[in-house]
Amino acid sequence: MLAATSGAELIDGKAFAEALRARIGERAAAFAQYAGRRPGLAVVLVGEDPASQVYVGAKAKACEAAGIASFEHRLSADTSEAALLSLVERLNQDEAVDGILVQMPLPQGLDEQAIIAAINPDKDVDGFHVINAGRLSVGQEGFIPCTPLGCMMLLKDRLGDLSGLDAVVIGRSNIVGKPMAQLLVDANATVTIAHSRTKNLADIVRRADIVVAAVGRPEMIRGDWIKPGATVIDVGINRLPPEEGKERGRLVGDVAFAESRDVAGAITPVPGGVGPMTIAVLLRNTLVAAHHHAGMPVPEGL
Ligand code: NDP
Repeated sequence: MLAATSGAELIDGKAFAEALRARIGERAAAFAQYAGRRPGLAVVLVGEDPASQVYVGAKAKACEAAGIASFEHRLSADTSEAALLSLVERLNQDEAVDGILVQMPLPQGLDEQAIIAAINPDKDVDGFHVINAGRLSVGQEGFIPCTPLGCMMLLKDRLGDLSGLDAVVIGRSNIVGKPMAQLLVDANATVTIAHSRTKNLADIVRRADIVVAAVGRPEMIRGDWIKPGATVIDVGINRLPPEEGKERGRLVGDVAFAESRDVAGAITPVPGGVGPMTIAVLLRNTLVAAHHHAGMPVPEGL
């Protein structure tokens, strides 16, 4: 979904995500009618991290709006690893739960990898389990992390066939950069993965038809790095220090938006670009998990 701006077209992730959520809502209702229960997502939050509380609240609200049952488990920061593992095991066995999400980061002392490894890969709607990472890397069906899958949906909507396009992914994290690069390779793009040790980053970005920035550094990618006409997907969410008289700073991406929109062919804004896609894809993955769980074919349009 595109909206005109001066220069680049704006990739309206918010509108795309709303349309996806509406389709999910329809298909969740059809699922409930057939299966006799709503699709279910269990969200586990350990501790009182304020950002995580906001995310978990937003996920629960989005679930309910789409007709997906949300089971929230809020545990205190001093929860032991054994207690958390036992909750995960209960959720693995729970027939009403199709997807399990343990909100990261976990408080110190809890081994995130051990917790992710304990989730049944078929309920791992975040796509963080090594089995799902492995499935993605060998081209088998599995759960793909929500943010890169959301980016891919926006790219395909904008560009259609990505065959032969030069893509650069800046960032190599397990939750964004690496799966993003894998999805782009699978879509037949020629992919460069850049990171903190990359030399001549500006020159690499200048060659790219597709730029995906997932760094976490405010406005690091400058307008004069962007190839004219390129499609720019900005995953970064960074809060600047507050301006005088303001309580909170502005949210910006990893790409200098004002400079880049004059050069790019299309660009995602921050906020309103990739961000809204992440939760919509989480709902999508949960609905897919529910269909698998119930032995039903996954409907079209997801
Ligand atoms: P990580 O911190 O895990 O990874 C950042 C990556 O950027 C690393 O691979 C790092 O390289 C690389 N990097 C750091 N500095 C530079 C540099 N100067 N030049 C080139 N590469 C650099 O972050 P995430 O992948 O988790 O997230 C990235 C951004 O996306 C953050 O702003 C985060 O808030 C946002 N985000 C947004 C989401 C959304 O829903 N829109 C969801 C998830 C994340 P190295 O590996 O060498 O250290």
